[in-house]
Amino acid sequence: MIIDLESEEFSKLKKACQIAAKALEYAKSLVKPGKLVVEVCNAVEEFIIKEGCEIAFPAQISLNDVAAHFCPLENDNLKFDDQVVKIDIGVHVDGYIGDNAATIDLSKENNELVKATVEALKEAIGLAKPGVKVCELGRAIHDAIVKYGFSPVVNLTGHGLDKYNIHSKPIIPNYDNNDKTTLEENQLIAIEPFASTGAGIVYESSPPTIFALKQKKPVRLGFVRNILREIEKRKGLPFTTRWLTKKFPKHQVNFALAQLLKEKTIESFPPLVDKEHGLVSQAEHTILVKDKPTILTLV
Ligand code: MN
Ligand code: MN
Repeated sequence: MIIDLESEEFSKLKKACQIAAKALEYAKSLVKPGKLVVEVCNAVEEFIIKEGCEIAFPAQISLNDVAAHFCPLENDNLKFDDQVVKIDIGVHVDGYIGDNAATIDLSKENNELVKATVEALKEAIGLAKPGVKVCELGRAIHDAIVKYGFSPVVNLTGHGLDKYNIHSKPIIPNYDNNDKTTLEENQLIAIEPFASTGAGIVYESSPPTIFALKQKKPVRLGFVRNILREIEKRKGLPFTTRWLTKKFPKHQVNFALAQLLKEKTIESFPPLVDKEHGLVSQAEHTILVKDKPTILTLV
């Protein structure tokens, strides 16, 4: 979307972006060997609510070869130890979304991998000006990552942000895909390079724990209807199994999700894993396209 900088919407967007950045810093401070991944997700989501904002998508913490879309279950006993940890946080105020991500290297052996995406992001942000082609950003990201000796993940992309829509046009590629779409003044975009020590191509793994409402359809069973009603409160934004099992019995949640998926009422976003199981890093900011590009997700 293109945003009017004088509007109330822009104030909402700025708040969402600022809290997204603060939540990311908070999450980073919590990530420590021995700690449960789900604890950090819960804490960050509580932080967002406490700051008077809403959660745009479930806090995602993806480890090692998992590039994105991992979200632990309520009783998941997965712990941090020596992994490459991606944290991706989305916050919204009345549908105006801030999206940002960072990588923490608990392995202490992959500092260069982390630096590669930070550097690629910096290069791409510098190009986020009106009239610049999205493939030029892609080329800058690719070149920066390759310079460090890694592969950009080519089937993950940055994106535009719209009201209640996390992934709108334009697509911001992580390599030169020859897309000559140009950026526009005051356009809102998220740039998110991923670097891999492996293939640089991700595939959909399983099981999914992130879902979103696709198309409302009538539901027969009472408890499935109740769960669907809860899902509808998200206004199309993603939700996670963990949120539902806090409110409904686990077996009901599992049954409802399976049925709603089968009927295509909801869609799933499975964990995305590097094809060669290389380690993956990510960096992301929400940016306002201007002659002097503005990073909105700063604390
Ligand atoms: Mn993100
Ligand atoms: Mn994003």
